[in-house]
Amino acid sequence: MLKLKNVSKYYYQAGVIAEGFSKVNLELHLGEFVVITGESGSGKSTLLNVLSGLDSYEDGEMYINGEETSHYTEEDYLNYRRRYVSNIFQNFNLVNSYTVYQNIELAMLMNGKKKKEIKKYVNELIEKVGLKKYRNTKASKLSGGQKQRVAIARALANDTPIIVADEPTGALDSEAAKNILKILHDISKNKLVIIVTHQKEDVEKYATRLIKMHDGKILENKLVEKINLDKDLVSKEVDSIKLGSKLRLGIRNAFNIPIKFILMFVIFMLITVTLITNYASLKMAENEELGNAYNNFFNDTDNRRIILTKKDKTSFTEEDYNNINNLDNILFLTKYDLLNDIELFLESDNLYLNGNIKINTYKNVDVGNIPLNDNEVIVKGSKENWYLSNNLDTILQNEFILESDLRMSIKIVGVIYDNSFTDYDLEFYVSENLSNKLLKEEIRNKSDAIFKLDNNYVYSSYGSPVTILESDKLSNGEIYISDDLSGYCENYNCLNKEVNLKIKNIFYEEELNGKIVKVLTKENALKLVNRKYEELYNTIYISSEEYNKLFLKESYQSSVYVKEIKDLNKTGEELKNLDLEILKIKDAKHNDAEMVTQIFKIFKLILIVILVVVLFFISYFIMKIIYKSRNSYYTTIRTLGGTKRVCVSILMYELINLSMFTYLIFLLFINLIKYQIIHNEYFNELIKYISIREYVIVYIILLLLSILMAYRYGRKIFKKSIIKTYGERI
Ligand code: ADP
Ligand code: MG
Repeated sequence: MLKLKNVSKYYYQAGVIAEGFSKVNLELHLGEFVVITGESGSGKSTLLNVLSGLDSYEDGEMYINGEETSHYTEEDYLNYRRRYVSNIFQNFNLVNSYTVYQNIELAMLMNGKKKKEIKKYVNELIEKVGLKKYRNTKASKLSGGQKQRVAIARALANDTPIIVADEPTGALDSEAAKNILKILHDISKNKLVIIVTHQKEDVEKYATRLIKMHDGKILENKLVEKINLDKDLVSKEVDSIKLGSKLRLGIRNAFNIPIKFILMFVIFMLITVTLITNYASLKMAENEELGNAYNNFFNDTDNRRIILTKKDKTSFTEEDYNNINNLDNILFLTKYDLLNDIELFLESDNLYLNGNIKINTYKNVDVGNIPLNDNEVIVKGSKENWYLSNNLDTILQNEFILESDLRMSIKIVGVIYDNSFTDYDLEFYVSENLSNKLLKEEIRNKSDAIFKLDNNYVYSSYGSPVTILESDKLSNGEIYISDDLSGYCENYNCLNKEVNLKIKNIFYEEELNGKIVKVLTKENALKLVNRKYEELYNTIYISSEEYNKLFLKESYQSSVYVKEIKDLNKTGEELKNLDLEILKIKDAKHNDAEMVTQIFKIFKLILIVILVVVLFFISYFIMKIIYKSRNSYYTTIRTLGGTKRVCVSILMYELINLSMFTYLIFLLFINLIKYQIIHNEYFNELIKYISIREYVIVYIILLLLSILMAYRYGRKIFKKSIIKTYGERI
């Protein structure tokens, strides 16, 4: 039973009170087919809205099954509507982007039914309203009469005891109108149908009660057919929408309006690309700064380099090298780390070249040939390098002298161009043999030596007291000395005297004893050691085997170079797990402009943060505009019993779907670039600086935007009543 006692409804608009209807008394029951007529503005719609709980009233009392409703809150009304009322609107209020089936199904999903369970019933309803042929047609493609039939089917699917129809035939031609009224009548048994219409003649034959309104009052309330008026309204069973349904609607809504989908795709993509590219270029700039930094101790300041020693200070074994090489991100490993910091100095009459040393593994060169012996090397550098462009021929023809105790002559036989080099950096690729010789020299130079000749200590005013060189003419234990050292021996005669040598460096200590077999003089120097006497000062020669034993020990310090600079830290951690001490070369660098760089970095970081915030809000407002057009959808959801939470979660799933889809496309794009299927230099360079963490952070920003948007939007549409939102739309 639905009863109005002296109920009045007023509208307040711009300080003026307008009367919807006043002092209406009415009692309606299950089983009635109530027809309301009256001229325009007489208050029919207002009455229907109050009866169906779409609008509140100001005065009097409305009873639902005897229960007072004047204290009802929004939520109480929502509950009332869910249990008792379906509306059929003059302008249908279908979801235009849904098919006939989906529109009808929606009402049942909103009531917690499962998609599969209701399929048969929905199809029956479609048949009942004669739309079998249009089952999969979008509502927007239907004629007015067809739309209204969908609306009726939806009201039936909702299965509430009260069906309220406000001018359901107003927009239809008379044939279609008759049809609709008939269907309404057919379904009215055991329900309370309240209908406002101008089609008086057509509807009178069905009516059990006729109400005529005029100027906000009931002028006539005529019971046409006596029916059992004792029946109470029976609430339908209500359940809230299932999570699966919400997810499904979210997915459907994400894609079923192409223009909205495209706009949202563009927004999400814009945010993603802007964030990723900005972050990457910040990283790139940071890296370049480091590239410009220099270091006094290490010559090779490549940021990809990590220097390794073992935690227990022992030397590296083959097993250690295998373990290191088995890590993912290793570009190459230099067993003797010192090699990385030796520079090769080449000198000829008019040219002076220097650069880092690498062991050659190249089988091809850009210009010239690959080296065939220890005296031949490859040089690598930028095409813009002054030596490698203007002076290429000279370089390839010249004989160079290696600046070293080796006094070798060197020929550059091949050139490799690499434009990642600066215009002044060069790199030399040498034979392993030559690299070993240079390495020994380097270790020798970095070692302290205590030298005793004929039991006397030999001192020097700088560095090591003697220069130790190797000669393959000597056997172990045999020694040559330059004759300037003779003063340390008794009677200036060093021949056959004992020599004791202790070598000490940061890694090890070694000792050597020997006997002097020759003193190098003006006469014999060239013949014995192939060197001018004038060059021999404080020099001793030992056998090659002993020289190797002193200076080419197992390696105590190695370096790896990583492939992906973005994973440098990860690789560092993995190396630590192998019981290694690590030093990332980028951490060992000094930068003269450190202060300025730091400020610059902070400044850029602030800019990025501002960018993110601005972008976030711009996107938010554009999305808000786009979603304004969705008001009718969510109002429809509301009329079907959707709470704020339901609306928010459907929208949230929609936005999450859109963002996920966009992001997957973005990741696909990135991978196509990464695997060179799409060629794009710019992105290819940028993505080197982006790791999983950054990808995750960017997606989290998209997610946050989606969630915020859904909550704000949900709050906004629920600020207004259903009637108001509809009013704005019509
Ligand atoms: P009907 O449906 O019979 O044409 P309505 O119920 O729409 O009549 O309107 C009844 C009266 O209430 C009219 O005078 C109308 O101007 C007024 N009215 C209806 N809706 C509003 C509203 N949203 N704001 C102010 N006045 C309204
Ligand atoms: Mg009206």
